Amino acid sequence: MFDLVIRGATVVDPLSGSVGEKDVGIRDGLIAEVAPSIADSGALHTLDASGLILQPGIIDTHLHLAPSPLGQRMAVKAGVTAAIEMAGPVEKVLDDMAVSGCGLTVAVLNAILPGQNVSGANPGVDEINGFLDRSLASGAFGVKLLGGHYPLTPEASRAYLAAAHDRGVYMAWHAGSTAAGSNLRGLEEAIELAEGRAFHLAHLNAYCRGGVLPAARECARAAELLEAHPEIVTESYLSARNGCPLGLDDKGAPRSAIVRMNLKRLGLPETHDGMLSAVHSGELSVIRPVNGILELLSGKAGTAWLQSAPGPVDGSFDHVNPAVSRVFFATEKRPNGEFLVDAVSTDGGAIPRNVIVEYGRSLVDISALTAVEFAAKTSFIPARMLGIAAKGFIAPGADADITIYDPAARRAVHAFSGGRQILASGEVVGSGGTVLCTAEGEEAVRKRGLSAQVLPGGIPALNRSFGKKTA
Ligand SMILES: [Zn+2]
Repeated sequence: MFDLVIRGATVVDPLSGSVGEKDVGIRDGLIAEVAPSIADSGALHTLDASGLILQPGIIDTHLHLAPSPLGQRMAVKAGVTAAIEMAGPVEKVLDDMAVSGCGLTVAVLNAILPGQNVSGANPGVDEINGFLDRSLASGAFGVKLLGGHYPLTPEASRAYLAAAHDRGVYMAWHAGSTAAGSNLRGLEEAIELAEGRAFHLAHLNAYCRGGVLPAARECARAAELLEAHPEIVTESYLSARNGCPLGLDDKGAPRSAIVRMNLKRLGLPETHDGMLSAVHSGELSVIRPVNGILELLSGKAGTAWLQSAPGPVDGSFDHVNPAVSRVFFATEKRPNGEFLVDAVSTDGGAIPRNVIVEYGRSLVDISALTAVEFAAKTSFIPARMLGIAAKGFIAPGADADITIYDPAARRAVHAFSGGRQILASGEVVGSGGTVLCTAEGEEAVRKRGLSAQVLPGGIPALNRSFGKKTA
């Protein structure tokens, strides 16, 4: 007897590389059978998914949940079942999951913040090790270096990565230091400072916006570097938008350097009035919580919210990421046929750009990716990045983490996590969540009433092959 049989979907399995109309039987949170037809008599519940595509649950390898508890809802609504939260603070993310979780499985990478959780931009090895200890004990899966926003010195960046690597702690790096920016130069510097150690290079497309060389040439240079460094794992996202805080300093200037840079690019003053003009014209949108989701607002409604919001407002500039780097990194392959970039991510969650299905599926429609490749880059390879053997494929024994989407509307319709439905006909129905953590953090997770899945952590030597058809 199955707990649930999902009928009639086109099942896309990146492990076998197969695509076909099949029924999927789920029992005790696992996929128990995949067959052309499963009899009605063997199912407690059935779900008709004809006309839809069923693939292993989407794992968003780069999103943000700390800015708003609604970020979890935004991710699930977009078909995501598991995610890497790319900054923390881990305590806030876990507290929010316990109160308003939507059934996501989350690995949190806790960011080192000079002047906040370490003394400054040049912490010593003991201080770095103390930060690693505290992060893991608080339930983090690993750690982050937000070099583009809160940089460390090059020496401390190297020491941080070496300490994480030597202790087998998963570390992601948004390239940039006190000496190099969040651009191609920062990317080159990060790879040099890593000295061959494996790490997760965050949102590769963001270093190729045309700031140093024409964007297409930056992409080619980044490709050369990644081919020379297969130990590095990475992801890229598909949205043209960014995300940024819109707070002002005591002189009335936007606090964020990214906001000031974008206002300058648009020929606007680097002031509150400049932001209002950008919102009015639609180049900048404000993020507003409404009816349990987060929406982007510009024009009159946007300027009104920016002037009247009760607390700090976050925003998002459009047209920041050129199409050439977004498409290149989503589709480019290495000479051996494996993908150059391991995953399609969003850098979304609480930033409304959760467009893996919406934009990623358009790449399938124009034959830039096959449906199997899309499933590999959004689930199969991400599961391996995290070191989870039971996710990322549709076959007996796999976790019943499933995303079902409408290929014509490019919209997620249903999603399941461990056999529990978390998205039903486009509505978020999940609760709670599972936290991927190390043995050090298990207690911190469980004491909040959340499930813990303990993993060894660390950056794996990534097997990038998929779609091996067996007889
Ligand atoms: Zn990010």
